[in-house]
Amino acid sequence: MHSLWNDAGAAACGSEIERRIYTSRLLGQDKSLVLHGGGNTSVKLTEQNILGEDEQILYVKGSGWDLETIAAAGFAPVRLEHLKKLAQLSELSDPEMVNQLVTHQTRATAPVPSVEAILHAILPYPYVDHTHADAIVSITNTADGEARIREIYGDTMVVIPYVMPGFDLARLCAARFAADAGPNTIGMVLLNHGIFTFGQSAKESYERMIAQVGRAEEYLKRNKAWDFAPAAVTAAHGIELASVQARLRADISKAAGFPVIVARHANDKSLAFASRTDISTIAQQGPATPDHVIRTKRLPLIGRDVAAYVEGYKKYFIEIEVQAKERKTMLDPAPRVVLDSELGLCAVGKSAQDAGIVADIYDHTMDIISRATALGGYRALPAKDIFDVEYWDLEQAKLRKGGKPLPFTGEVALVTGAASGIGKACVESLLARGAAVVALDLAASVVSMKSGANFLGLQCDLTDEAQFKQALVQAVEKFGGLDMLVLNAGIFPGGCRIDSLKTEEWQKVMRINLDANLMLMRECHAFMKLAPCGGRVVVIGSKNVPAPGPGAAAYSASKAALNQLARVAALEWGSDNIRINSLHPNAVFDTGLWTPEVLAARAKHYGMSVEEYKTNNVLKTEVTSRDVAELTAEMCGPLFAKTTGAWLPVDGGNDRVI
Ligand code: ZN
Repeated sequence: MHSLWNDAGAAACGSEIERRIYTSRLLGQDKSLVLHGGGNTSVKLTEQNILGEDEQILYVKGSGWDLETIAAAGFAPVRLEHLKKLAQLSELSDPEMVNQLVTHQTRATAPVPSVEAILHAILPYPYVDHTHADAIVSITNTADGEARIREIYGDTMVVIPYVMPGFDLARLCAARFAADAGPNTIGMVLLNHGIFTFGQSAKESYERMIAQVGRAEEYLKRNKAWDFAPAAVTAAHGIELASVQARLRADISKAAGFPVIVARHANDKSLAFASRTDISTIAQQGPATPDHVIRTKRLPLIGRDVAAYVEGYKKYFIEIEVQAKERKTMLDPAPRVVLDSELGLCAVGKSAQDAGIVADIYDHTMDIISRATALGGYRALPAKDIFDVEYWDLEQAKLRKGGKPLPFTGEVALVTGAASGIGKACVESLLARGAAVVALDLAASVVSMKSGANFLGLQCDLTDEAQFKQALVQAVEKFGGLDMLVLNAGIFPGGCRIDSLKTEEWQKVMRINLDANLMLMRECHAFMKLAPCGGRVVVIGSKNVPAPGPGAAAYSASKAALNQLARVAALEWGSDNIRINSLHPNAVFDTGLWTPEVLAARAKHYGMSVEEYKTNNVLKTEVTSRDVAELTAEMCGPLFAKTTGAWLPVDGGNDRVI
């Protein structure tokens, strides 16, 4: 543990709130302290209200904010006196607690205060910091965790047995704090949950957190429960394992009732952990802190038997739900974490971003379980306690916050020729509909053309079968499968009449525009067959298919053959629930091929202005890359769910085609 406090950085903070933001972000930067919205912080300030009266305000982290990126708007200002009075009540329901928190704020636009707000209020210190530090839960999640914590901290920390977060925990902490706190007390350890520290200043509270968690780390090191030489397990990569992963994704999606992203993490740590001989014991205890359950579920799937996992989950729900105070509706029974000795760790999410959060949490969970096991045995909370948090309305609200998902959420699309023109526009249109997109192009610029969890750009020569297979494996490892394929890459060589068309030129066009697409379709078929909502292929053809022009024999013939290939695929793949349709664009000028100079020269050749030339069609409208891309995306969507083997012009109306 190292303090990230920097006097210069702190000096730039002009107010207590800014200092509160500064150290909150320092906590957020250390993933061994808090992960993805975990933990919370507060500061108590005296402010004048509109009547000129002094009021004590608790600025506490708002629900949904992340400590790493929190800003002033992320702190909810709640009247402290009222919170202290609430803490005196003998009971307070969750909905009423939230109602009280929200209605006693001084800023209408503030977020909903953390459910731990009352707990922050009862601690008589200006600054309070709370994390779910790995080292703390590694120690508390053992059979004799409490004794170990008391041994490490003596009278510096008040020890709180596990109680679900919310009003009951705040009350218990108030009682224990009043009874047990002494002159040396600087914080509290919440068994199976995390740690609080407090202080008179932002620096004091933060540095106490670092120091106290550091003591837990030292204890683990002293007890040889810190570093482990990972077992020598070598990760295998290849099309066979990619198929295994895609099958797993299909099974999990079916169990979930919606398509999911399954991201494989075949690093040394995950493989060594998944290959442990005691894995079916140590990884079947429960999460490191109950907070994680809404992301990871209580237990990971070990191996690949999704049906058995689903049965186990249903049994867990039925057995515990009858003990709950009110009736609950079962969540989807699909796993979120898979541990497999060959695949390593697979993280499951509704989106690539969600799967990323799951992977981060489980990466830390593996450390916690390994360390607790080395300390004498990992022991998580009983299933009932985990259930209470998993089915707690306030936790569920965090997941619901996302609103209605985009139409391609959890699905994966692969686009060729993606670095420019129509291909690039297709990437945008598919990302905008929530798909995870794999963009392939010969140009290296494809790799960094977009950022974000939903994007993977790979440089790839599609005429090289081995290169493409490698790209396909990378795509499946990152997202879990393939649902949509957009065949866009192609070349359009300059005008050359048949009497002077060289064989090599002809063959080159056929290799890129036709042969490569046959290979892509063949290699992607097995994956698209597993697509949870059915596979979809869109072929970017050309007006030259129905209406060829002179001087483009190789191009027109290649696109016509590709069109015919697509029609045969539609016949052959219908029974695999794969749809394949073609688009025939014409005169799309906002692509790399058409520089202003070329455009001006062509317009002049036909005796038109550039504007006339661009809109030289029946509707007198310009067709852009985006128009083609939007139609491509729609053809993958529900609007075209019952259409296959079709070809559709997108050309503003061409009298020769019509
Ligand atoms: Zn907490």
